[in-house]
Amino acid sequence: MRHLAPTRLPQRCALVVLSCVLFVMVGLPGCRFTLRNGDSTSSASEEVWVDPFANYELVDLTYALSEDSLYWPNGSPFEYEKQLWGAGEDGKWYAMGYFATPEHLGTHLDAPIHFAESGWTNAEIPLGRFLAPAVVVDISARSAIDADTTLQPEDIDDWIEDHGDRPAGAIILVRTGWSAKWPDWSGYYGSDDPFDTTTMHFPGVSSAGAERAIEVGAVGVGVDTASIDPGNNLAFTAHRVLAEAQLFNLENLTNLDQLPEAGAYLIALPAKIEGGSGAPARVVGLVPRK
Ligand SMILES: [Zn+2]
Repeated sequence: MRHLAPTRLPQRCALVVLSCVLFVMVGLPGCRFTLRNGDSTSSASEEVWVDPFANYELVDLTYALSEDSLYWPNGSPFEYEKQLWGAGEDGKWYAMGYFATPEHLGTHLDAPIHFAESGWTNAEIPLGRFLAPAVVVDISARSAIDADTTLQPEDIDDWIEDHGDRPAGAIILVRTGWSAKWPDWSGYYGSDDPFDTTTMHFPGVSSAGAERAIEVGAVGVGVDTASIDPGNNLAFTAHRVLAEAQLFNLENLTNLDQLPEAGAYLIALPAKIEGGSGAPARVVGLVPRK
């Protein structure tokens, strides 16, 4: 075997290091790369899937839309119809449905224009605000004994003290535990006669709590109840305070118990309705794997 001249050694080492880096970047030819969640696999040697979310657990915070979806009691239900559904004359399958829905039904966005004339519509909300850190403020212990309880400024202050961070740029999620009552009309709206909206009782956000959310720099506020305001506040004061400051709301969230109080991220993407005051949204939490 020919010996390397001592002067060639540094170049040879550099070549080996470069080869290792390329090997890691390109992958082993012929390997199968498993896609996230085991959805599918690929054996194509040129396909290398680098999963940017591999270190996160995905939590679906969204109710599926159906004709059983709860709607605001003086509103209207979700409609769905199978238009074409089955094998055609050629024997080949084809499926297509039609749906109609109020903007504010199921897990949905309230755009600021919902309660502020100069507020952003759905399509005007800056896209980056829908991808944000999730700050979970838990008031479920109070909610369990008082259906009319609300998020107070001190709840946000306590979160800041506990976690040593500020919710600037974050979406504050108010965990009340109310999603356990979905889809029971009476339980969820806290009334034996939920279609009389003056009888509703469920937790929400106080106007002072909304003010504090704005002061700490949140971009939105979400709840696991039917409305940002508690059921007994038909003046919708928290809605108005938040909307005037261009904060959006997320309502009828579920699975908030699967998010940590700090450290998760939110992807909350509503339908981009031109001029819309709100829309059904798919809301997903990204929780760092331990
Ligand atoms: Zn709404």
